[in-house]
Amino acid sequence: MTDEDCIFCKINAGDIPSEKLFEDDDCFAIRDIAPKAPTHLLVIPKEHFTYLTGMTAGFQPVIGSMYNAARQLAISEGVAEPGYRLIVNQRDDSGQEVPHLHMHLLGGRKLGPMG
Ligand code: AMP
Repeated sequence: MTDEDCIFCKINAGDIPSEKLFEDDDCFAIRDIAPKAPTHLLVIPKEHFTYLTGMTAGFQPVIGSMYNAARQLAISEGVAEPGYRLIVNQRDDSGQEVPHLHMHLLGGRKLGPMG
Protein backbone atom coordinates (compact mmCIF):
# COMPACT_ATOMS: atom_id res chain seq x y z
CA MET A 1 0.00 0.00 0.00
CA THR A 2 1.27 3.48 -0.82
CA ASP A 3 -0.05 6.96 -0.09
CA GLU A 4 0.09 9.22 -3.13
CA ASP A 5 0.57 12.32 -0.97
CA CYS A 6 3.42 10.83 1.07
CA ILE A 7 6.93 12.14 0.43
CA PHE A 8 8.60 8.85 1.41
CA CYS A 9 6.27 6.85 -0.85
CA LYS A 10 7.20 9.22 -3.69
CA ILE A 11 10.91 8.72 -2.98
CA ASN A 12 10.44 4.95 -2.96
CA ALA A 13 8.60 5.12 -6.30
CA GLY A 14 11.37 7.29 -7.80
CA ASP A 15 9.01 10.24 -8.28
CA ILE A 16 11.32 12.30 -6.06
CA PRO A 17 14.99 11.58 -6.83
CA SER A 18 17.05 10.40 -3.86
CA GLU A 19 20.04 8.10 -3.61
CA LYS A 20 19.09 4.81 -1.98
CA LEU A 21 22.02 3.69 0.16
CA PHE A 22 20.35 0.38 0.97
CA GLU A 23 17.37 -1.49 -0.41
CA ASP A 24 15.75 -4.86 0.15
CA ASP A 25 12.22 -6.19 -0.38
CA ASP A 26 10.89 -4.45 2.74
CA CYS A 27 12.74 -1.17 3.18
CA PHE A 28 15.24 1.32 1.83
CA ALA A 29 17.57 3.96 3.27
CA ILE A 30 18.41 7.53 2.25
CA ARG A 31 20.35 10.43 3.73
CA ASP A 32 18.26 12.89 5.73
CA ILE A 33 17.83 16.14 3.81
CA ALA A 34 18.51 18.18 6.99
CA PRO A 35 21.20 16.18 8.80
CA LYS A 36 21.50 16.57 12.59
CA ALA A 37 24.84 14.70 12.69
CA PRO A 38 27.64 13.86 10.21
CA THR A 39 25.83 10.58 9.57
CA HIS A 40 22.06 10.96 9.49
CA LEU A 41 20.19 8.30 7.54
CA LEU A 42 16.56 7.32 7.36
CA VAL A 43 15.50 3.68 7.12
CA ILE A 44 12.03 3.58 5.60
CA PRO A 45 9.63 0.68 5.02
CA LYS A 46 8.36 0.46 1.44
CA GLU A 47 4.79 0.00 2.64
CA HIS A 48 3.07 3.07 3.93
CA PHE A 49 2.78 2.53 7.68
CA THR A 50 2.23 5.69 9.68
CA TYR A 51 2.62 4.38 13.21
CA LEU A 52 4.02 1.32 14.95
CA THR A 53 0.71 0.96 16.76
CA GLY A 54 -1.04 0.53 13.42
CA MET A 55 1.12 -2.41 12.39
CA THR A 56 -0.11 -5.96 12.84
CA ALA A 57 1.94 -9.00 13.80
CA GLY A 58 2.25 -9.95 10.12
CA PHE A 59 4.49 -6.99 9.59
CA GLN A 60 7.10 -7.97 12.18
CA PRO A 61 9.50 -9.07 9.41
CA VAL A 62 9.49 -5.49 8.12
CA ILE A 63 10.75 -4.28 11.50
CA GLY A 64 13.44 -6.97 11.36
CA SER A 65 14.45 -5.78 7.91
CA MET A 66 14.71 -2.20 9.15
CA TYR A 67 17.07 -3.22 11.95
CA ASN A 68 19.08 -5.33 9.54
CA ALA A 69 19.40 -2.27 7.28
CA ALA A 70 20.47 -0.11 10.23
CA ARG A 71 23.06 -2.70 11.23
CA GLN A 72 24.56 -2.86 7.75
CA LEU A 73 24.50 0.91 7.31
CA ALA A 74 26.15 1.52 10.69
CA ILE A 75 29.01 -0.65 9.48
CA SER A 76 29.23 0.83 5.98
CA GLU A 77 29.05 4.41 7.34
CA GLY A 78 31.84 3.66 9.83
CA VAL A 79 29.83 4.46 12.96
CA ALA A 80 29.34 0.92 14.29
CA GLU A 81 32.41 1.09 16.52
CA PRO A 82 32.34 4.67 17.81
CA GLY A 83 28.59 4.36 18.26
CA TYR A 84 25.35 5.67 16.90
CA ARG A 85 21.73 6.20 17.81
CA LEU A 86 18.50 4.84 16.32
CA ILE A 87 15.36 6.93 16.78
CA VAL A 88 11.76 6.37 15.77
CA ASN A 89 9.56 9.41 16.35
CA GLN A 90 5.89 8.72 16.87
CA ARG A 91 3.14 11.32 16.85
CA ASP A 92 3.01 14.84 18.25
CA ASP A 93 4.96 14.56 21.49
CA SER A 94 7.99 13.21 19.60
CA GLY A 95 7.83 15.90 16.93
CA GLN A 96 7.23 13.41 14.11
CA GLU A 97 7.15 15.44 10.89
CA VAL A 98 6.64 12.80 8.22
CA PRO A 99 3.65 10.50 8.82
CA HIS A 100 5.31 7.44 7.29
CA LEU A 101 7.15 5.17 9.74
CA HIS A 102 10.93 5.61 9.58
CA MET A 103 14.01 5.05 11.69
CA HIS A 104 16.73 7.70 12.04
CA LEU A 105 20.35 6.49 12.21
CA LEU A 106 22.54 9.22 13.73
CA GLY A 107 26.27 9.12 14.33
CA GLY A 108 29.66 10.55 13.51
CA ARG A 109 29.90 12.74 16.61
CA LYS A 110 29.24 12.54 20.34
CA LEU A 111 25.45 12.62 20.39
CA GLY A 112 25.12 13.53 24.05
CA PRO A 113 22.31 12.52 26.35
CA MET A 114 18.83 12.12 24.98
CA GLY A 115 16.31 14.74 25.81
P1 AMP B 1 10.54 12.89 11.76
O1 AMP B 1 10.55 14.19 12.50
O2 AMP B 1 10.95 11.73 12.63
O3 AMP B 1 9.20 12.66 11.06
O4 AMP B 1 11.66 12.99 10.67
C1 AMP B 1 11.42 13.28 9.33
C2 AMP B 1 12.77 13.53 8.68
O5 AMP B 1 12.61 13.47 7.29
C3 AMP B 1 13.37 14.88 9.03
O6 AMP B 1 14.63 14.69 9.69
C4 AMP B 1 13.54 15.55 7.65
O7 AMP B 1 14.72 16.31 7.55
C5 AMP B 1 13.54 14.35 6.72
N1 AMP B 1 13.11 14.61 5.37
C6 AMP B 1 12.00 15.26 4.96
N2 AMP B 1 11.93 15.29 3.63
C7 AMP B 1 13.01 14.61 3.17
C8 AMP B 1 13.49 14.28 1.86
N3 AMP B 1 12.87 14.65 0.75
N4 AMP B 1 14.65 13.57 1.79
C9 AMP B 1 15.31 13.19 2.91
N5 AMP B 1 14.89 13.47 4.15
C10 AMP B 1 13.76 14.16 4.28
